[in-house]
Amino acid sequence: MRIAVFSDVHANLAALEAVLAAIDADPPDELWCLGDVVGYGPRPNECCDIVEARADICLGGNHDLAVRGTIDLAEFSGDAAVAARWTQGVLSARAAGFLATLEPEGEREGVALYHGSARDPVWEYVLSDEAAAATLAISPLPLVLVGHSHVALAVEWENDVLVGGLAPAGTEADLSGRVLLNPGSVGQPRDGDPRAAFLVLDRDRQRATFHRVDYDVERTQREMRAEGLPETLAARLSRGE
Ligand code: ZN
Repeated sequence: MRIAVFSDVHANLAALEAVLAAIDADPPDELWCLGDVVGYGPRPNECCDIVEARADICLGGNHDLAVRGTIDLAEFSGDAAVAARWTQGVLSARAAGFLATLEPEGEREGVALYHGSARDPVWEYVLSDEAAAATLAISPLPLVLVGHSHVALAVEWENDVLVGGLAPAGTEADLSGRVLLNPGSVGQPRDGDPRAAFLVLDRDRQRATFHRVDYDVERTQREMRAEGLPETLAARLSRGE
């Protein structure tokens, strides 16, 4: 079985379309989304409709939960709160219905899925060895996928030692041990590569491959400016940080 995994779309339709076009060029058996379909970006309704139609499982991220009202927006930083409020104002009934179904953790095909981490599926960023080790220790399953940090990662726990780290485009990881992977972000990468990110798992070969695809960043920035979303959120897309 081959599975395409993506996360943190953040209402960036141009990036989502580019990722799905790349995935569809070599169609996998399943598509999994690790959450934050909305927030920050300008096209929440279209992204919800596409992910609902295409993904075999989709988690709910902190932005999805905030937009639907499960999380108090007081817990969000300035620009994130502004964008979440704007999203609430334009969200269609259909998209709201989809967000209402999402959970921040899940399991599929024997793989543990968390938006944030096993310790805190909503809020924790797995960006340190300590956080990665804690999630691998807590997870009941050897293969763990997380999103939320917008940083592509591949970490393996071997003989009580963590190996691996950042997973730039082209990185391959072995899936046969205790492994934590973050595909990176479709719609707001923060690891210095502005291209949209996704991951392909090949369960038969026990390999994961990290991918990046170009998308029309300027289109998304134009859409954000036209909607009056914070300029810092638009500008950061050019830098991938
Ligand atoms: Zn996110």
